Amino acid sequence: MTETYLSIQGVKKSFGPTTVVRDFSLDVGRGEFISFLGPSGCGKTTMLRMVAGFEEPSEGRIVVGGKDVTHLKPNQRKIGMVFQAYALFPNLTVAQNIAFGLRVAGMPKAESAQRVQDMLKLISLPQLGDRYPYQLSGGQQQRVALARALAPKPRLLLLDEPLSALDAKVRVSLREEIRSIQKELGITTIFVTHDQEEALSISDRIVVMNNGRADQAGTPFEIYNRPSTRFVANFVGTLNVLEARVLDAQAGSVDVAGQVLALDRDLAPKRKGDMISLALRPEAVSLGRAGARTGALAATIADVHFLGSVIRVRTKIGDSTVSLDTFNDPTMPPPVSGTPAELAFAPRDLMVLAD
Ligand code: ATP
Repeated sequence: MTETYLSIQGVKKSFGPTTVVRDFSLDVGRGEFISFLGPSGCGKTTMLRMVAGFEEPSEGRIVVGGKDVTHLKPNQRKIGMVFQAYALFPNLTVAQNIAFGLRVAGMPKAESAQRVQDMLKLISLPQLGDRYPYQLSGGQQQRVALARALAPKPRLLLLDEPLSALDAKVRVSLREEIRSIQKELGITTIFVTHDQEEALSISDRIVVMNNGRADQAGTPFEIYNRPSTRFVANFVGTLNVLEARVLDAQAGSVDVAGQVLALDRDLAPKRKGDMISLALRPEAVSLGRAGARTGALAATIADVHFLGSVIRVRTKIGDSTVSLDTFNDPTMPPPVSGTPAELAFAPRDLMVLAD
């Protein structure tokens, strides 16, 4: 990470008796794009609003560029914000909307007009300055909201589910546009979303929030491949979970529904007889003999869904379900439900979930 630009230190927020953010600490590097990801009500927006200055932490500090801003008002923090609902001024043109913050800051007219033109170019709408918000599509309105937030050259860009009101296609193209603008400007950004694919696809790092806490902060690769808690593993991506009993903790051997499985790691501090949860992504499992993938478990095929290029197969091992996708090979007979199958995987792909 580059030098820390935003530092959230031990923040807690309570409304009356209810604590909605707790033990929240995070260092964000200059120019970093961070997502707060989590289910509805986990405290993402409240944490973002504290960074913005709309809420004051009950405990802890927020530092931006080395300066403690915990008790500063939003307009003293030089932040740009974009919300879910476009929140443009309906009676102002696009250009006037973008110029709004510049006018408030007292920027001379000629300079402000130039900045508005630059911003319109940045969001690829150079011709639309004279339109009113109602004459724009949802995606265009959200680009204008972004331009309005960026025009005063804020130190931080805060985005609260800016894409969730848009349809799926626009959502994907706009998130890429936001990311490329953010990179071009090098602006430190926090993006709140409950959409894991969105977070995985555009973030430098993701903070997965659960019940007011940051469960894990890491790159998309780390969050997906090495989730540190069961919650993170479940929330991000599809997961197969197998309950296993430890046979030999040091040697890493376990029993899964009566079958012995050798893991590639020491399971201490677990001991013989302890139960552990193992997790496996669908793409880490294949049907057939173990071959190069040395792990194998006998299963029964429960059901088969033909999806075209892939076939989704659900299998059972004891009470556990393991789903996997297998490529459609027209030269091979498809899997048949009710028949036995062998599941092959690399032991290193098995994650041991923390309780
Ligand atoms: P969503 O994705 O639904 O917006 P979120 O993760 O952003 O969820 P928050 O909006 O931060 O969650 O809300 C976290 C919890 O805090 C919720 O249970 C909410 O009801 C509560 N909360 C938020 N603001 C207040 C407030 N001003 N007074 C009391 N409770 C509040």
